[in-house]
Amino acid sequence: MPNYDYDLFTLGAGSGGVRASRVAAGYGARVAIAEERDLGGTCVNVGCIPKKLLVYASHYSQDFSDAVAGYGWTVGETNFDWKTLISNKDREIERLNGIYAGLLDSAGVERFQGRAVVVDPHTIEVSGRRVTAEHILIAVGGWPVLPEIPGIEHAMTSNEAFHLEEMPQRVIVVGGGYIAVEFAGIFQGLGSQVTQLYRGPLFLRGFDDDVRNTLAQEIRNRGIDLRFDTNVARIERSVSGLSARLEDGSVLEADAILFATGRSPLTAGLGLQEVGVELDEGGAVIVDEYSRTSLPSIWAIGDVTDRIQLTPVAIHEGMCLAATLFDGRPTKPNHDDVASAVFSQPTVACVGLTETQARSRFDQVEIYRSTFRPLKNTLIGDDERTMMKIVVDSVTDRVLGCHMVGPEAGEIIQGLAVAIKCGATKAQFDATIGIHPTAAEEFVTMREPVS
Ligand code: NDP
Repeated sequence: MPNYDYDLFTLGAGSGGVRASRVAAGYGARVAIAEERDLGGTCVNVGCIPKKLLVYASHYSQDFSDAVAGYGWTVGETNFDWKTLISNKDREIERLNGIYAGLLDSAGVERFQGRAVVVDPHTIEVSGRRVTAEHILIAVGGWPVLPEIPGIEHAMTSNEAFHLEEMPQRVIVVGGGYIAVEFAGIFQGLGSQVTQLYRGPLFLRGFDDDVRNTLAQEIRNRGIDLRFDTNVARIERSVSGLSARLEDGSVLEADAILFATGRSPLTAGLGLQEVGVELDEGGAVIVDEYSRTSLPSIWAIGDVTDRIQLTPVAIHEGMCLAATLFDGRPTKPNHDDVASAVFSQPTVACVGLTETQARSRFDQVEIYRSTFRPLKNTLIGDDERTMMKIVVDSVTDRVLGCHMVGPEAGEIIQGLAVAIKCGATKAQFDATIGIHPTAAEEFVTMREPVS
């Protein structure tokens, strides 16, 4: 048996890598982890956490006006200071970086600061030092990708959006996925004039069509200039900022242009292909059901495998891997019925199959749908609608999917995800007594299927 320096060496201290390493160490493995940037990876530093803080900040404009419009408050002059928000956010992220360091240290995981590359199936080079490990875990995540159009160097990605010196007054957001709709809502709520451009006929591809249409309508009502079938052809610096020439020849002026056009696995230059690890055409590490790559000693989890790019999924994959390698329990991650939320304004959340997916897999599908004006909005006179939808296999009565657009959708769908994981039927939803008055009770009171 060769004598390795470590049982596990992890490349990348993001959500997945940290969890796999800590749990592995808890099982008694000798573990080291290397990170070239900040501990916590995308989620902590330039993703979920700072994004949610910015979403909270951007909500206040609406809260102030709702309070005045319907609830009898007089709100004095309000001002928003971007620099204060960003420095408060940075302080919190720094605190979280410290917590991650503490968690790794207390678990007994050795930390390396620096870029690690794979040299052979059991050797890693990090900061000029070579170390060996029985197992190597690739958990390096992904990075925003930009299309190759003239002037793209003037655009920013979500990475830079979190660190802007000034809040842009006019913003163009390009893309129609999670990040684009979230940032469009953030900037709009903070007071910027926002134009969002999506190349296809309807954004949020892959989400339920009722969700996509409802959100498009609601964010337009909130003042975002949302344009479909629109693409940027080139970007130039202009006297007043930046100008984006669209493919139809028209020109939009802006102070900042954010491209949220997807993320790619960060595998370039890691030495993976050189040692025989297979990547797909997008650069993602190909893994089997246990997260093992084409080389038996090398494993990969999280965004770098491009299975489902979500923090809780990477964490789940990390825990399964630790159990497989060091607890004698070979465990496959389960990617079924993963709930997710898009922190657009209003929020989107869903779990399970969309109506289109369900109709392609099941013979008889019933749809329950409700749209209503939330109670809070009645005094405000706001017409914003909440939409909820349940997709049911009418042969077995099993609930296949739940979808929502509206306040607190993420909080509501998380609970329903448990029911769906347990295989709940529509009859069991119906037998559940609602909490009144909530929006969530609508999910257990929809009785008539949509024809
Ligand atoms: P997505 O893949 O979700 O969306 C990318 C968007 O950009 C799509 O609308 C896509 O269009 C469009 N696009 C791609 N290439 C081009 C191009 N060349 N020109 C114009 N438009 C283009 O990526 P995101 O960057 O938004 O997010 C990455 C992942 O991170 C998400 O898939 C998600 O898994 C995760 N994430 C999760 C969050 C959450 O849980 N709340 C928040 C943020 C990110 P098309 O649909 O036509 O391909």
